[in-house]
Amino acid sequence: MGEHSSLAEIVAAVYHDMAPHFGRGHVADYIPALARVNPKHFGLAVITCDGQTAAAGESETLFSIQSISKVFTLTMALEKLGGALWKRVGHEPSGSSFNSIVQLEQEKGIPRNPLINAGALAVTDALLAGGEPAALVADIVAFMRGLADDASIGIDPEVAESEGQTGFRNASLANFLRANNNLHSAVPDVLTAYFNQCALAMNCRQLARAGLFLAHAGVDPLTHARVTTPTRARRMNAIMMTCGHYDASGDVAFRVGLPGKSGVGGGILAIAPGKASIAVWSPGLNAAGNSLVGQMALERLAALTGWSVF
Ligand code: GLN
Repeated sequence: MGEHSSLAEIVAAVYHDMAPHFGRGHVADYIPALARVNPKHFGLAVITCDGQTAAAGESETLFSIQSISKVFTLTMALEKLGGALWKRVGHEPSGSSFNSIVQLEQEKGIPRNPLINAGALAVTDALLAGGEPAALVADIVAFMRGLADDASIGIDPEVAESEGQTGFRNASLANFLRANNNLHSAVPDVLTAYFNQCALAMNCRQLARAGLFLAHAGVDPLTHARVTTPTRARRMNAIMMTCGHYDASGDVAFRVGLPGKSGVGGGILAIAPGKASIAVWSPGLNAAGNSLVGQMALERLAALTGWSVF
């Protein structure tokens, strides 16, 4: 690709280069509803701050956004609690897997960051604040619909139910937080809200659109709505860069060079600050629990566009 290629040409080239790899990696099998997904899917969507869009593959197919939801609940919690949130959760990379328990005990129930499961459970608890899980879930869905400018977004109840039946590790983390007085609502309520937020079903186009405020200092560049402050948007990008891919965050910084957040459904949201928001989906995961082909696609996209925070 020459340096004057259009965005559409670059996205088409990424798709072409990834095609031989479709199906690589292993779908998450600890959530039965995700274990049934065909690993050969691939979708990619890019939206720029000036409203250009480009997409390839199954960019309109819904998938389970899973841990990518942690970015959006963090946004909501920072708006609600401000800096007080950081008393309950840190902003340091964990160097551990997404559902690690050991570190939580060593650090007395203060999760390292909001993008690992323990941290996200504390964030969801902060949002729940003793209320009804169904009301919080409705708020989260409304927030996503507003960000993506798409009223069709919803939750896949089958995925939420499936995770509820096998979410023993998350239940352990939540109970451990509770034992350390860092979870105040009833554990089953926090888990219900958390499993539902993870079961948000979105496509690449909607997800890229929903993340666009992070590429534009907290303001949606297309509607001019302020979602968060410039400082918070910058810090969220910093946390996504250092923590968004768990113990592979350094590898993603090295290879891709953009802040991002992965989910075990095989989606990744990546942000090119000042430039664009990108969503990619390919369900096969690598050993760190991140989309294998999705990460490769982002590496290729970053190389062809020259987008990098470094
Ligand atoms: N719902 C998943 C879990 O809590 C999310 C994990 C992920 O996407 N990495 O296990």
